[in-house]
Amino acid sequence: MESTTPPNDCSVKVAVHIRPLIGDERLQGCKDCVTVVPGKPQVQIGSHSFTFDHVYGSSGSPSTDMYEQCAAPLVDGLFQGYNATVLAYGQTGSGKTYTMGTGSGDSSQTGGIVPQIHKEEVQDLLDPTSTGKVANVPGKPPIQIRETSNGVITLAGSTEVSVSTLKEMAACLDQGSISRATGSTNMNNQSSRSHAIFTITVEQMRKINTDSTDNGSLKEEYLCAKLHLVDLAGSERAKRTGSDGMRFKEGVHINKGLLALGNVISALGDEKKRKDGAHVPYRDSKLTRLLQDSLGGNSRTVMIACISPADINAEETLNTLKYANRAR
Ligand code: ADP
Ligand code: MG
Repeated sequence: MESTTPPNDCSVKVAVHIRPLIGDERLQGCKDCVTVVPGKPQVQIGSHSFTFDHVYGSSGSPSTDMYEQCAAPLVDGLFQGYNATVLAYGQTGSGKTYTMGTGSGDSSQTGGIVPQIHKEEVQDLLDPTSTGKVANVPGKPPIQIRETSNGVITLAGSTEVSVSTLKEMAACLDQGSISRATGSTNMNNQSSRSHAIFTITVEQMRKINTDSTDNGSLKEEYLCAKLHLVDLAGSERAKRTGSDGMRFKEGVHINKGLLALGNVISALGDEKKRKDGAHVPYRDSKLTRLLQDSLGGNSRTVMIACISPADINAEETLNTLKYANRAR
């Protein structure tokens, strides 16, 4: 039996979220083929065994624990000025959207952007003129990923909405979700072959004490950090979804993003490589380029690998676990 050990403390954490068998799977008489070792963050499928930072199983209610363990530390860091990224990875129907939907953060002073990457193009889901359309709107320049001289990644031309309440932020997220381009395949008619990124930016003016004596001369300091919540495209192999033509091309592009993401996260997780200043291949896809200033460095990353427990999905589940295992 292969086995893996948990990582040392590092900036990339990997969790697995196993959803329960759902209606369709029950109707087809599917069996549960994934087991969790009691009291350990360890998952077994067939003869394979994997250990992660956290495993959230199909029994009990994991959402509070998952928020506390995966999202809360990132939200805390956000207020200290550290960028962060939460990624939901897995095949279509494995629970990515479900997972991201329950994992939203706290807000006091936030701004939001919901861009979407489709076929290596960035699309603005909060722009009323581009709602639901994949094709470029004539006369509107495409959104460009830009890097400032101090390494901050920006999306030139995207919509940013200032919000002051959680309700306003939720409304933004809803609007983006409605616009999200999806296409039907024979896997799942809600199948998403695009990555959806919801970014929360927190800007703060903090009063800091500038001299070491206690006379307290206070100076204002500007602090800005962002949290990306990323609902990744389905990780299933293009051939399994019966995709062809355009769809197949989309599949190829999307795999490019997921492939690049895997390479970046794997390079970041490898402490030795990082210390040697090894190259982290951010430029290999728009997804990794866009997330560049929020993956690695001082930023914190959590990948939540979502899996179905059903035996019919065993092959994709194993692929997902291998991908997630490589990330740590
Ligand atoms: P994905 O976004 O990966 O395609 P979804 O989040 O849409 O998958 O989940 C697929 C189906 O499974 C949905 O009907 C969803 O409600 C259900 N589901 C996913 N995760 C869970 C869970 N943890 N508990 C109960 N139902 C779930
Ligand atoms: Mg989804």
